[in-house]
Parts: sequence; structure tokens; C-alpha cells
Amino acid sequence: MALRFYNTLTRALEEFRPLEPGRVGMYACGPTVYQLPHIGNYRTFVFYDVLHRYLEWKGYQVRFIMNLTDVDDRIIERSLDAGSSIDEFTAPFIRGFLEDLDTLGVRRADAFPRATGHIPEMVALVERLIQRGHAYAVDGDVYFDISSFPDYGKLSRIDLSAVRRGERVASDRYEKEDVRDFALWKAARDEDRRVGAAWNAPWGEGRPGWHLECSAMSMAELGETFDIHAGGEDLIFPHHEDEIAQSEAATGKPFVRYWLHSRFLLLDAEKMSKSLGNVITLRTLVEQGYEPAAIRFQLLSAHYRKELDFTLEGLTEARTAIRRLLDFDDRLAATAVRDDAPPSPLPDLAATALADFERGLDDDLNVPAALAALFTFVRRTNAALDELAAVSRADLDAASSALARMDDVLGVLAIARAPAPDAEFAAWVEDRLAARQQARASRDFATADAIRQELAAAGVVVEDTPHGSRWKRA
Ligand SMILES: [Zn+2]
Repeated sequence: MALRFYNTLTRALEEFRPLEPGRVGMYACGPTVYQLPHIGNYRTFVFYDVLHRYLEWKGYQVRFIMNLTDVDDRIIERSLDAGSSIDEFTAPFIRGFLEDLDTLGVRRADAFPRATGHIPEMVALVERLIQRGHAYAVDGDVYFDISSFPDYGKLSRIDLSAVRRGERVASDRYEKEDVRDFALWKAARDEDRRVGAAWNAPWGEGRPGWHLECSAMSMAELGETFDIHAGGEDLIFPHHEDEIAQSEAATGKPFVRYWLHSRFLLLDAEKMSKSLGNVITLRTLVEQGYEPAAIRFQLLSAHYRKELDFTLEGLTEARTAIRRLLDFDDRLAATAVRDDAPPSPLPDLAATALADFERGLDDDLNVPAALAALFTFVRRTNAALDELAAVSRADLDAASSALARMDDVLGVLAIARAPAPDAEFAAWVEDRLAARQQARASRDFATADAIRQELAAAGVVVEDTPHGSRWKRA
């Protein structure tokens, strides 16, 4: 069976055939960095990770891009409150987000483009849309004319009957009833200028709309047509609908070939959302003693298109499941090896498990089926080992490598083996890093260096990246 995905665009399971054999371009909507994501967002990020890992597991060379939205209404508002520029305000959230990805064992994207780093591409895209008659400027704002794009609504299948020509919506986040011309560019206000959120453009100083950012960055990184665009289901309308309109109206080409959307996570049967104020972050859970491996396991345990109830009991069950895998891994490592051992069922069990695992994931990334294959393998291999005094090196390697190979996609054993994070120490390091950042911002390099040395003495290696500072223990 070939790899198949459920494509939101066609509402059908489709065989996955990338544009270029052997290569995949994949774009996923990342966070808006005005706070740390809540646990519900991490379901989406872990889904991206399983998709990314599985494509690589299948032998594809994947170029994976995840954007960071570092300019929007909320960021501007909170930067004003904090008396900082948007760059200063978002830096710790970007750093925190990347650290959280590491905590959960999410493999880094090939690039994390930031909206503010791609303004020229966004301006060029708006210019192209104006030239082609799909956009118009009004008092320094620029709107997309949805009546100029007959395919509008093809992804979300939204009812367009209520649309009245020329009605406009300026907010980045609007409801289904607001099917109207949407803002590509917003004229600068004084507040925007004060926090460094205003850029020059032919139709006036301003800033890009949220939807425009993803169109411009994805096409800049992956080309005008690419294979996979992923996101949470809440992004289908308006965000992804608008991305399609902007991109296809500008290029005249299909924008994305496969649209994959993950469902919400439910927390105690209530939809988690920031607007409900029901915010649980990854850090709160880790601080309360829940292992990242158990959190990751629960986040990936349901099929990505099914709702997932995230519960503390579920975390306890996940912990038990991981314990079983670790015990099994330990048992394999401790199994006696003898060159003259008779043939064992281990290679067959391993081959069957890998085939079932792959069949499950080929079927629209059916993780529950893949997990069933894994745990059946553990149970049967344990039973076989009960009957054997020793096995050959080759047979044992077949079992160990099957386990490792399955974990290449699931990514839970690797983080379960990592030492438990020391929350207090981590908080201290974060505090010192923030002080160092502040010292650097005020060009007090002597203090910044002293803090770096202080951290080094405590065994912390600091790595400065374009996305902020990261740290690890030496
Ligand atoms: Zn996006």
C-alpha cells in the first residue's frame, strides 16, 4: 500500500505523490509569539513532527519550514504595554518555544522564518496582486478583492451567498460570517511605529496582514507550488483560504497540493483555547512532574484527525506505556547472546511489526495502528524471550533495531532516556539569560560576558542563534 493522506482540499484520501520524486516541501503554520503556546497547540506541533519524521522514515528528503508570526495586533498591544519593541518583546517567547520543541523531542524545522524578516517578499506579493487586479488600496490599507478570485472558498467550502462586493474586514482573525475582502496590508498607526512594527511600501507605511505572511514566506522558501501545507483545523478558514487566494491569484498556479489539518485537543472535555483563559503550558506540566515523554506520547496517541482528550489519567497511562518500552529495551540489552543459539522467532516478529507499523502510518498517519503494532511486538517478543536461554547476535539486533526504527517516528524513547529536567535550575538559567539579553540590549557587554562566564561555571553552554539564545548542559 502506498502512503495516503486525507487532503482537506478534496475531502478525500489520496495517494501521496510529491512534485519531485524523492523530495518533499512541507510548510506548517507556527505560533504567534506573544506568549508560550498552551498544551493544545503542542498537539499540532507534535503532529507536524510525526509527519516530518515519517516522511523522512519513508526515505524522502524533506524540506520542512515552520514560520513564526512575530508581528500582529496582540504582539503590538503587548509590546506597547511592556514599553519594548516587538523584537525585544517576542525574543523570549521565540526562545521559549524552541526550547519547548526540544523538550518534546520535536525535530527542528529546516528554517523558522519570521514574518518581520520577510517584509520585502510580502510587499512584492501585494504589488503583484494589485497589478493583476486582485487587490486595491484604500487610505494606505490594501485589501484582497475576493470577487476577483472565483475559487475563493474552495478549501473551507464556505457559503459565499451572503458576500457583498466591497465589504471589508481589517482584523487578521475573523469569523465565518465575515466573508469579505480582507487586509493584505494595514496602514501604520502611531502605536505601530512606536514598537517598530511599520515598514515602507509603495502605497504607504504599514505592516502585513497575518495571512499574507504565510503566503509570502512559504513561496519564498518552497516555491510557488509545493507539496504539503499543515496546520490546526482552526486555520482552515480564514487563514488557509486566504493563503490560497493570495498565492494562486498572484501566480496563476496551484499553491499547495496536500492540505493536512489536525483536530483540537480537548482538556477535560472543554475545548482548550486561550480565549477561555484555560491555559496549561508544557512547562506547567513538566514542573508538576509529568515527564515530557509521557506528554508527547499522549499528544500523538490519537489519530490526528480525531479529537484527543488530554487528561492526567491519560498521562499516567502514557507513563506506564513508556515504562513498558523502556523495560523491553533494557531486557533486550541484557539478553544473553550465544553464537550457537538456535534460530529464534525474533527476526520474524520484528519484520511483521515493522510491516504493520508502516501499513498503519501509510494509512493517513494512523498512529494508533502503529502503536498497536509496536506493543504487539513487545508482547510477543517478551513471550519468546521467556522461552529462550540465549539468542544469536543477529536475531537480537533484528529486535533492537526494529524498536529503534519505530521510535525514529514516535520519538518517545529518546526523550524518556534524557535526564529529567531540573525545573529550578532551568528557571535560574532562564533568569540569567534574560539578564544577559538585557545587558546586551543596553550594550553593556562586560556584564553580558560576566553572566556568560557565570553560566559556563555552572556547566551551561549558551548558543546564540538568529532565533535567540539556547542553552544546554555541558
Ligand atoms: Zn500560516
